[in-house]
Amino acid sequence: MSQTKRALRLRAEVPAEVPHTAMVMAAGLGKRMRPLTATKPKPLIEVNGKALLDQVLEKLRDAGTIGAPLEAEVDVHVSRAAFDKLNALGKELRFFLITSEARLNAVDAAELEKAGDAVVNGAAIYVHATDAAKCVRCWHRRPEVGSIAAHPELCERCVTNITTAGEKREFA
Ligand SMILES: [Zn+2]
Repeated sequence: MSQTKRALRLRAEVPAEVPHTAMVMAAGLGKRMRPLTATKPKPLIEVNGKALLDQVLEKLRDAGTIGAPLEAEVDVHVSRAAFDKLNALGKELRFFLITSEARLNAVDAAELEKAGDAVVNGAAIYVHATDAAKCVRCWHRRPEVGSIAAHPELCERCVTNITTAGEKREFA
């Protein structure tokens, strides 16, 4: 076979509207992955050195739905039980997900069901591009960037880190 032969194109380059919102199914309590999931929610379990959720986000980035992870914000909808487990991460959830924002919402079973039959006692994760401005220091896109008079190009966390002994983080 000729070495110069071009690789077969499996998919035509069709100019198409790329959706900018995606829903990631992250269902279940991770029972089959215990004890790994005893202390960590399944989407954050690492496989080949990368959290399962990050692997999904990477595919969305490749597809152009979201830009770099820091251009994304996520809304995580989970059951009350999962919420109680995850909520301890609080504001640090976004550092685990490496996204600019991550909001955790406890929803009832009926609400979760609307996300699809695949979600049972689990989570639905909505990913969308953020409109917030980029902090020049950490590249996170945060709503307060531009509003801190002394440092209009920085986010609140970076201002804390350069003006005090540093932010306090417990988990991430
Ligand atoms: Zn920053």
